[in-house]
Amino acid sequence: MTKHTSRRDFLKTAAAGASAAMLPLPAIAQGAPGRVVVVGGGFGGATCARFIKRIDPRIAVTLVEANATFTACPFSNGVIAGLRDLKDQQFGYDKLSSDQVVLNLSPATAVDAQGRSVTLGNGARLPYDRLVLSPGIDIRWDGLPGYTEQAAERMPHAWKAGEQTLLLRRQLEAMADGGTVAISAPANPFRCPPGPYERASLIAYYLKTKKPKSKLIILDAKDAFSKQGLFRNAWKELYPNLEWVSLSTGGKVTSVDVGEMTLVTDFGRHKADVANVIPPQKAGRVAELAGVADRSGWCPIDPVTFESKLQPNIHVVGDASIAGAMPKSAFSANAQAKVCAAAVAKLVAGGKPDEPKLINTCYSLVAPDYGISVAGVYRPADGQIKEVEGSGGVSPANAPSSARAAEATFANGWFKTITDEVFG
Ligand SMILES: Cc1cc2nc3c(=O)[nH]c(=O)nc-3n(C[C@H](O)[C@H](O)[C@H](O)COP(=O)(O)OP(=O)(O)OC[C@H]3O[C@@H](n4cnc5c(N)ncnc54)[C@H](O)[C@@H]3O)c2cc1C
Repeated sequence: MTKHTSRRDFLKTAAAGASAAMLPLPAIAQGAPGRVVVVGGGFGGATCARFIKRIDPRIAVTLVEANATFTACPFSNGVIAGLRDLKDQQFGYDKLSSDQVVLNLSPATAVDAQGRSVTLGNGARLPYDRLVLSPGIDIRWDGLPGYTEQAAERMPHAWKAGEQTLLLRRQLEAMADGGTVAISAPANPFRCPPGPYERASLIAYYLKTKKPKSKLIILDAKDAFSKQGLFRNAWKELYPNLEWVSLSTGGKVTSVDVGEMTLVTDFGRHKADVANVIPPQKAGRVAELAGVADRSGWCPIDPVTFESKLQPNIHVVGDASIAGAMPKSAFSANAQAKVCAAAVAKLVAGGKPDEPKLINTCYSLVAPDYGISVAGVYRPADGQIKEVEGSGGVSPANAPSSARAAEATFANGWFKTITDEVFG
């Protein structure tokens, strides 16, 4: 089978639904039911809570989430570009009760890994047999000199969707035609590797259609990025005013000067009218509190069960985990959550989890009707998660506009499917 054929077949599977974890569901556990607490009701956590319950309804599952409304990052670049409303990104937790998941809307503030309990901001103490953490990311506020929480009010990151997304949107709307927009993209690893480049594309689309005299510059701390060839070819064709400055040509932002609205690199200073700073990141804070984050700030895990390598009985999925070759994406978080749910159900019943295979597809929109994607299949090997050789790949370099339009439709379908599965 050629690489091209395997990718086409693969995409058919991916487009058919978001069922990203290719593993047999374990038989209903025969042992005594256990108690599982899941912290974080995003793509990883909400999926995991629901799937544990579906696999073994006798397990008591509590989902702990800080906010009553979840605001999704995928497609939030469309909000920034004025193509959709923030409310299209927002989801509640009402439907979780259909799976008999108990919801506790309060932040987890402490984890006692030895005593196996989680304490919440509302004072509740939840004992567990197994704990699953899917807290997403936190910003490293000490990672970029000058970039503080106050600075983010002038130079939004918009890397957690919500108010920050709207702030960046409003700044773009307020900018005069002829202005300069600067995006600072971080070094790896970070949430959503193609995200900064999709964002640049959709902002460029907004500028081209509404403020054509304006410029957009991406200052990058890397020399290579996800789907680079596809993005750069599309930019050449669609957005000649978009400039990408790589690490080796002086793109790495080393500090920010908010008063001067300036991004500083070792090679010079870039003044901007709108500055979108995507700063260095780490696992959500609760991972540190639980003792499952290592010095990198992320969480090493067993590739079969997603159990922490640092604390027994605590599993970590989604962006917070070090998942080898898998990118930090909502698709990955959802796939990992299903694998973890199956493993947790087995472990609670005293069984041995099966070796999983996982898939991921990341779609990006270069324009509303121009989609591209990268896909991969992954499995545990040598204690890590590795990509299966010859699997996946990226969209073809030379494709007709009808193929790009079809991928934009698949992207929209994917968002609907995954959010229906997680929150519907
Ligand atoms: C601009 C942008 C575009 C993106 N586009 C895509 C895309 O097209 N496709 C894709 O697959 N991915 C995309 N992503 C990536 C995707 O958003 C993340 O990979 C995904 O959300 C990770 O899921 P998660 O469960 O790890 O974290 P999240 O989905 O962020 O969920 C974490 C949850 O944990 C909660 N939480 C955190 N700490 C606590 C605590 N102590 N107590 C209680 N609750 C807590 C948070 O409130 C949150 O609800 C994009 C990201 C960005 C920024």
